Amino acid sequence: MKILRKEVFKLIASDEEDIKELLEYIELNTPDKNKYIKILKDSYGIEYGKHTDPDKVLIEKANLNDIKTQNEFSKYSNYVKYAQRLFKLRKIKYKENINLMIDPKLVQKLVKPLGIKVKFSPTLSFFKAHAYPSKKIIEFGSEVDFVWVESLIHELGHILYYEDPKIAGHIAAHPTYSITKYGLKNNKESFSDNFAVYFTQPKILKKYVPEVFVNLWEIIKKYTQWKKVILNIMKHSYILKQ
Ligand SMILES: [Zn+2]
Repeated sequence: MKILRKEVFKLIASDEEDIKELLEYIELNTPDKNKYIKILKDSYGIEYGKHTDPDKVLIEKANLNDIKTQNEFSKYSNYVKYAQRLFKLRKIKYKENINLMIDPKLVQKLVKPLGIKVKFSPTLSFFKAHAYPSKKIIEFGSEVDFVWVESLIHELGHILYYEDPKIAGHIAAHPTYSITKYGLKNNKESFSDNFAVYFTQPKILKKYVPEVFVNLWEIIKKYTQWKKVILNIMKHSYILKQ
């Protein structure tokens, strides 16, 4: 049996390369343009229109076995859309751990070794938390009589992210690997949510994004003081019975 060179090429080439090539031919406006548009639709199910751009193709072809990086997208917003698509494909069953609490009076003392201050501000509404990474301040609503541990560690994550610029490049900070929907917003939120869940619900993180679990383990082992402080927070936390 004779196999044509073209067919062999088709067997080894990835869809993505073929699609890119077809789009290039189409955009060159050659007389064969319509033929390529038809191939794009028949072979890959992609409708070529005014809005077909490489970002859109990457979004449509999103697959968990080949995760793209931010620099492969021309716009950050498209990269976020792509991350949203991957998030759906992962079918993550994650729920905020809203019953894990800590006494606000303890928080101040526990984060002190990191040089972080905790403030309770009347301008911040109940249940809200905010970090000011450059000032090393975490703020909570003034009337709280307990603090959500997951939210506290999330805010600590913002400060660590600010202090180590290398973190932004790690997969734990990539929205394409976020354990939560909220983390799809941007690299900062993705890191903070993954960071919090690493401590509060490690089994969930390990199950759905094992790469992030390993990555965070690698990052955190360099920060012994941070690890100590957060494990201490976990030790002093309690489950609120509803
Ligand atoms: Zn945040």
